[in-house]
Amino acid sequence: MNFILMGLPGAGKGTQAEKIVEKYSIPHISTGDMFRAAIKEGTELGIKAKSFMDQGNLVPDEVTIGIVRERLGKDDCSKGFLLDGFPRTVAQAEALQQILTDLDRKLDAVLNIEVNPEILLARLTGRRICKNCGATYHLIFNPPAQEGICDKCGGELYQRSDDNEETVGNRLEVNIEQSKPLLDFYLKLDLVKTVNGEQEMDAVFADIDAMIRG
Ligand SMILES: [Zn+2]
Repeated sequence: MNFILMGLPGAGKGTQAEKIVEKYSIPHISTGDMFRAAIKEGTELGIKAKSFMDQGNLVPDEVTIGIVRERLGKDDCSKGFLLDGFPRTVAQAEALQQILTDLDRKLDAVLNIEVNPEILLARLTGRRICKNCGATYHLIFNPPAQEGICDKCGGELYQRSDDNEETVGNRLEVNIEQSKPLLDFYLKLDLVKTVNGEQEMDAVFADIDAMIRG
């Protein structure tokens, strides 16, 4: 059960990842967690990664790929893994194929949670915060009883500047552009399984679950 989880911001990847690892008892391997663990353990690659991050630089592929190689070789991955946030590029995807070959493993599927970008935009810009008490709401998932007003204290609700349409829209576009070649790479290998992420979370998981069971 060796999977990659893909999906744009707001597609619900985090929620689905939690459900998958709980049901199938495989580790959820996100890039951030992997870096943090390597740094904490003080591995050679972890120390290298930290030096790049401390200088505000991107960690080069060679280091990232080394960390992935170490991580996938650990005992807890013997039953499988759910990779999240890696690979990001075709070069990384090719490196991953090599790592898996070396480990005598192969990818079973790339689970791609698909949601229309317009819906993602609504999801990602829907957060509202109370000016008075800091309570958070979401226009779709957790709306206040009265528009623009905090249920708890009656304070005025506002939108954080980095939640605005332009910022979020740009971020989405960058993500769409980046993920395209990666999806093409896996489509050619016939590994992509597309899930309709516009459904309720439980329905999305039911689809993923059915795909995993094949
Ligand atoms: Zn409030």
